[in-house]
Amino acid sequence: MQNVIADKKVRAYNFSPGPAMLPEEVMQQAQREFLNWNGTGMSVMEISHRSSLFIEIAEKAEHDLRDILHIPKHYKVLFMHGGGRGQFAMVPMNLSGGKKAGYVQTGVWSQTAVEEAKLFCDVQMVANSEKDNFTTIPSPEKWQLDKDLTYVHYVENETVHGVEFQYIPDTQGIPLVVDMSSNILSRPVDVNKFGLIYACGQKNVAPAGITIAIIHEDLLKRKPLPTTPSIFRYLEQAEHDSMLNTPATFPWYMAGLVFQWVKRQGGLEVIAQMNQRKADKLYQYIDQTDFYSNPVNPKHRSRMNVIFRTPTDELDTLFAKEATKIGLTNLKGHRVIGGIRASIYNAMPEEGVDALILFMRDFVKRYG
Ligand code: PMP
Repeated sequence: MQNVIADKKVRAYNFSPGPAMLPEEVMQQAQREFLNWNGTGMSVMEISHRSSLFIEIAEKAEHDLRDILHIPKHYKVLFMHGGGRGQFAMVPMNLSGGKKAGYVQTGVWSQTAVEEAKLFCDVQMVANSEKDNFTTIPSPEKWQLDKDLTYVHYVENETVHGVEFQYIPDTQGIPLVVDMSSNILSRPVDVNKFGLIYACGQKNVAPAGITIAIIHEDLLKRKPLPTTPSIFRYLEQAEHDSMLNTPATFPWYMAGLVFQWVKRQGGLEVIAQMNQRKADKLYQYIDQTDFYSNPVNPKHRSRMNVIFRTPTDELDTLFAKEATKIGLTNLKGHRVIGGIRASIYNAMPEEGVDALILFMRDFVKRYG
């Protein structure tokens, strides 16, 4: 097959799970503004986070995110360091009081969150799909929701296992904490259903280095464990407008450009349709062949991370290698489960998915 980037000269279709592709328009805007932001003669990278220049960028980013997600006033929006893993610790440090917290385990990332939470609180497994090799989501009727849980944590999209919730679980009044690291901004969401939404930036939002938390005022009032460092306290972060220490200014600016791009696309309804179309195409093709297979319960398949296999490990490796040569990059599956993974976040154009399917057809012809 022809090199898909030959025409375009520069950009690959990059299927990386994160840091991931950013919209080309955003990258070009950042490039234009890189040396001289807004006529100041300085790069955004070079200005103080306390300057009015940066405060304006920060405030506009928050305003646009609130607009896109319809975030009510009684939620604080934080832009912090520490990534998804930082939140795995911050959540129990701030919200558990060292008591009982519920966790739903549906893949590698929720499992990692459980291990981290065990350092700080008494973890109760609400539901767990490990015995099904994380190919499904345990049905909510079977979840064990004790009244004394301080919160229930789940991961809405499991980036490694390709499993995604298509509904918001009902936790009967217990505050719901969700990791949306790999599917935030991929569709509309009812923020009111959550106590806390968090996401690392490097998939659908920005380059690596920034983490977003959207937290209900009531949860901000909870007392953190006494040993919680100030930088890991949600309330202190909120009181300092996420500038308790020097924030990741450039990723914050980039996030702002991505929010403006989301608005220009027509908002999350339009983005959701684009994402659904891309994922449907890919799954439909996988399902119609005997050569490729995806193990996930079709009701819970991820729209963001499409995992699949060929008949052998050797062919999986060859697939990723040959794909890279023609400009379809980073298709190798995660080391924990192997196989192939196509991450198709917001910035992956539909043409990228079309090119991948063409390559998949060609690969079957040659090796099937
Ligand atoms: N949660 C999910 C769902 C993820 O996909 C990842 C990273 N791939 C993380 C948490 C961890 O994020 P970070 O590397 O920013 O700590």
